[in-house]
Amino acid sequence: MSFSTLGLSDAIVRAVTEQGYTTPTPIQAQAIPAVLNGGDLLAGAQTGTGKTAGFTLPILQRLSTDAVGAAIKSKTAPRVIRALVLTPTRELAAQVEESVRLYGKYTNLNSACIFGGVGINPQIKLLKQGVDVLVATPGRLLDHVGQRTVDLSKVEILILDEADRMLDMGFIHDIKKVLAVLPPKRQNLLFSATFSDEIKALADKLLNNPASIEVARRNSTVEVIAQKIHPVDRDKKHPMLAHLIKSNAWEQVLVFMRTKHGANKLVEQLGKDGINAMAIHGNKSQTARTKALAEFKDGSLTVLVATDIAARGIDIDQLPHVVNYDLPNIPEDYVHRIGRTGRAGATGEAVSLVCVDEHQMLKDIEKLIKQTLPRHVIPGFEPDLNAKAQPIQLRSGAPGHGNRGGGGGGRGAPAGNRGGNGGGNKPRSPGGAPASAGAKRSNNGPRPASASRPGRDR
Ligand code: AMP
Repeated sequence: MSFSTLGLSDAIVRAVTEQGYTTPTPIQAQAIPAVLNGGDLLAGAQTGTGKTAGFTLPILQRLSTDAVGAAIKSKTAPRVIRALVLTPTRELAAQVEESVRLYGKYTNLNSACIFGGVGINPQIKLLKQGVDVLVATPGRLLDHVGQRTVDLSKVEILILDEADRMLDMGFIHDIKKVLAVLPPKRQNLLFSATFSDEIKALADKLLNNPASIEVARRNSTVEVIAQKIHPVDRDKKHPMLAHLIKSNAWEQVLVFMRTKHGANKLVEQLGKDGINAMAIHGNKSQTARTKALAEFKDGSLTVLVATDIAARGIDIDQLPHVVNYDLPNIPEDYVHRIGRTGRAGATGEAVSLVCVDEHQMLKDIEKLIKQTLPRHVIPGFEPDLNAKAQPIQLRSGAPGHGNRGGGGGGRGAPAGNRGGNGGGNKPRSPGGAPASAGAKRSNNGPRPASASRPGRDR
């Protein structure tokens, strides 16, 4: 099967071919014809499956080849926002918009990306100039709606990307507010990695007789991801990580941590061990994040320490090692984390450093992935079997670290849904650096802490 047999125009096939893609991925093979048909779509697919091109290619095709597209091309009609993509994070918004640009380079369509945490004025200017495809995080989009600096009255196609994540992050109210200002007659595409009751309820409300597709979840591709648990005392995690990196001569390791504070501390500690590490999380400037990611990708940085949200949507090919320095509060996050490795047929390794406080979390994860993970005690790091579990929030130093990321996040979520770290309801910080056209910035919004385990600090 080729992209042209799916019904895509030469302009789009050319751009795709330039990216080196010859064969559509399973999600693309199913989603492209469904979207070209004009109907609604419910798609189950994770990052790494090629889902972005799965919706980007057909929407570009639809918008560039119809009468309005022709009028825009011949400059007889102004550009209006005809497709709106909502994403949970700045990173994902920037990546999606980059895909729109890449795949749309031979069409006459343009795009813009807007999210919080950066100045709003450059975005207003961009929007004024006319945009065909807008990629946005919900919070900042609503700011523009409130200031009447965006016109969504001509939107024909709405895409909710990583809808499960948007709900996790408390965006449901923002999404509803956006839906209320869109024209009722439109095509709706909902992409989600998981299908909770909440997602099903949203799909029921949003989608009209949708085509439904689901591609194999990457978490089921465990054959290519070797997973291991290293039991360890809570205060031995850092020496254990340094030991693993040094003794195995690991050169590229993505380390996940629950808290921003913990990530910073770990970077400092590894630095003292002579291990080159940087952190990415919501408190880091976009410049710092971009730098860390670029160095990690090109191999000059050994360790990238990331919080779940900051790492979301980041695409690193052939990542050999993922370390869960601590386990995520939400079992699904484990799947997202380990899915960073073992991609594209490459083998990968995911190890988790688990202390006594995390035994219940481990049980929840094993229940979700329906397997018991092998335990390997590392000589010299044998855990104290008499150690008593402590509540996670005590270790996370929860109050005061703030749950805020960039400005796009989670406002409108009920206060009680934000967990106990006291950061979730602070007003958003005013814009920082100005957004350049289609700025590649990230929106690391907050997500609610698990009710049973407060103290998230992203
Ligand atoms: P996504 O799931 O959209 O985040 O895409 C994951 C990765 O797959 C991205 O790096 C894409 O560039 C890549 N990709 C998308 N479609 C294809 C394809 N048909 N063939 C090969 N790689 C692809």
